Amino acid sequence: MEWERKWQDGVAGVAALFDKLPPAELARLRPLALAMRRRKEEMQELASAVDAATHCAGCGGACCVSGKYHFTGVDLLVFLVSREHLFVPRFDNGLCPYLGDARCLIAAGYRPFNCITFICDLIEDQLPRDQVSRFYQMERELRKNYGEIASLFPSGGVAGSLL
Ligand code: SF4
Repeated sequence: MEWERKWQDGVAGVAALFDKLPPAELARLRPLALAMRRRKEEMQELASAVDAATHCAGCGGACCVSGKYHFTGVDLLVFLVSREHLFVPRFDNGLCPYLGDARCLIAAGYRPFNCITFICDLIEDQLPRDQVSRFYQMERELRKNYGEIASLFPSGGVAGSLL
């Protein structure tokens, strides 16, 4: 199947770049990946504090149903450096291939930038203003974090979507 092959080729391409990463860059990648995971988990916790799961269940997770192909080479690098088992996408339902039966196949700390930084009005309206500011501050830090990881691969190949 075309999408499965694209996925496998994309994963293999980034894994090859990761394997060739010199030790000095690998030593820089580790703390950057850890910081990225922690920041994403913190953003998810912030949204969860206003019962995001209930709001998402109520609307049917429309953002995930229409979102697609957000997972990038940088996201895969965080899996690789963490030695985390990679999920298996689903290409059989016409929806986001990373959407499982009930929820995203990707744990919050590894979720793509577009997914972890999106909060709909339903959720944002429930958050105190200082928490909204904190959320968008973390979004800016996360964007910088992506750039720092991508810069370890000056010849490119990790910044774009895998699909
Ligand atoms: S990757 Fe996960 S959070 Fe992002 S659109 Fe797909 S299912 Fe939703």
